[in-house]
Amino acid sequence: MSKGAKPTTTWKDIWWQQDRVTAPQRPASERVHDFREIEQTVDDEAARREAARCIDCADPQCVEACPIGNHVKDWLVLVAEGKFLEAAAVCQATSSFPEIHARLCAQERQCERGCVLGAHGEPVAIGLVERFINEYAFDHGGVDVQPVPVRFNQPVAVIGSGPAGLTCADQLNQRGYPVTVFDAAAQPGGSLMFRIPGFKLDKDILKRRIAVFEKRGILFRCGVQIGKDTTIAQMFQEGFQAVFLGTGSQKPRELDVEGRHLENVFQALPFLAETQAVAEVHAIPLRDRKVVVVGCGDMAMDCLRTSLRLGASSVTCIYRRDSSAMPATKREFANAQAEGARFFWMARPTRFLGDEQGRVRGVECERTRLTDINESKRRDPTPNSLSFVVEADVVVLAIGFEVTPPPVTATEASLRLSEEGTIAVDQDGMTSIAGVFAAGEAVTRAGILGNAVRGGREAAAAIDRYLTAKR
Ligand SMILES: Cc1cc2nc3c(=O)[nH]c(=O)nc-3n(C[C@H](O)[C@H](O)[C@H](O)COP(=O)(O)OP(=O)(O)OC[C@H]3O[C@@H](n4cnc5c(N)ncnc54)[C@H](O)[C@@H]3O)c2cc1C
Repeated sequence: MSKGAKPTTTWKDIWWQQDRVTAPQRPASERVHDFREIEQTVDDEAARREAARCIDCADPQCVEACPIGNHVKDWLVLVAEGKFLEAAAVCQATSSFPEIHARLCAQERQCERGCVLGAHGEPVAIGLVERFINEYAFDHGGVDVQPVPVRFNQPVAVIGSGPAGLTCADQLNQRGYPVTVFDAAAQPGGSLMFRIPGFKLDKDILKRRIAVFEKRGILFRCGVQIGKDTTIAQMFQEGFQAVFLGTGSQKPRELDVEGRHLENVFQALPFLAETQAVAEVHAIPLRDRKVVVVGCGDMAMDCLRTSLRLGASSVTCIYRRDSSAMPATKREFANAQAEGARFFWMARPTRFLGDEQGRVRGVECERTRLTDINESKRRDPTPNSLSFVVEADVVVLAIGFEVTPPPVTATEASLRLSEEGTIAVDQDGMTSIAGVFAAGEAVTRAGILGNAVRGGREAAAAIDRYLTAKR
């Protein structure tokens, strides 16, 4: 710089002057009446302003903290410079549906937790910028919908159309393999379609992405259950040269207390499946009912917020630890609280009380206190002598999952299971059947979107190596 010249202030020098941008949310009083998404996409000016808070660090921990290794810093820098389509291309390089990650990933525990600004104040709102970029891409021709030419006549069957299956199918399609996705359900999407509520992920967003996959040449065959309607062996006979299993595996954890089998005591997964907008009829009527949800993770928040939308007169969460220990993300807890859910901390159910018709009418709870921190760095709840009853017409158990073999394994005798009970795979993601690969929750147990996607992507690379060697 020549003597006397004024230093140029760049966006890198002013990050600390900028407040974190927050996405506009529909007011709780309005959104609680429908299943539409609650957050809106920010405009380009707000997205640039937020992206400009990124200080372009040399060792970006946001990338390290992302389960799929998104090049977060690179696209933030591009957005700050106004290069939105270039940013979208960088997003799309590591994800088959970045607009869905933007909505569902728990950024506060992943990329945003790695953001260096978090040590001094608020991290960059990465999910907000990711959502903007990818909506911009859809609106401005930045999503490729051209059919991908087939390069290899080696068809692949993908079983299960959840995030693991969709990712694997997309990655193989982009490499030039003919791909057919099979799913037992009537529509593709797995948990994204049938369990995750629309207020977190609008089903039209998912359908828009599946339409892109179809245009690029992926075939979808829904209503086909492997193990009942056909078998893996039959798929090979039909000409498929490799099979991917992304069948998920979710068995809810049980609560062994008296009254568990009273009418209107549900597990969270069937409860969510039957109450979402995607279900044609809400099979569980909740209007003017008192709903109690046991557990305090994000799935419990989904159940609380679903109940509020279906007109429950009161919606109460019971959790055995205190608020500092709840597994729910801050974002989902804040949303549930704003929409009217009540929380009883430090209490656990000891009995479900019923009426003469065998319907649940209340939850008897005991107060808990917490032990000192144990080996797993948590405080365990222990009983306290106080007890109380919460009135309930409907109880939902959202207390986690057990590991269980996916149903498809029951009909495939030679498919080896891990000691835990999930599908066993080798370092390449191949199962005990040659040419059959698996990933997602069928292999890892219940988890998060990012892990299922990473598994699907790695399996696609392994299938590509396997088929390349066969050629
Ligand atoms: C209510 C709920 C909320 C969630 N919210 C979040 C969130 O906010 N953020 C986040 O990161 N993660 C969230 N998750 C977790 C995330 O959805 C899962 O980690 C992810 O869906 C797992 O993907 P998958 O492809 O392994 O399985 P799944 O999504 O379960 O898909 C499996 C598919 O396989 C099909 N299938 C099974 N057996 C057969 C068969 N024999 N033949 C044919 N098809 C078969 C099923 O019909 C299904 O479509 C949530 C999960 C749930 C249930």
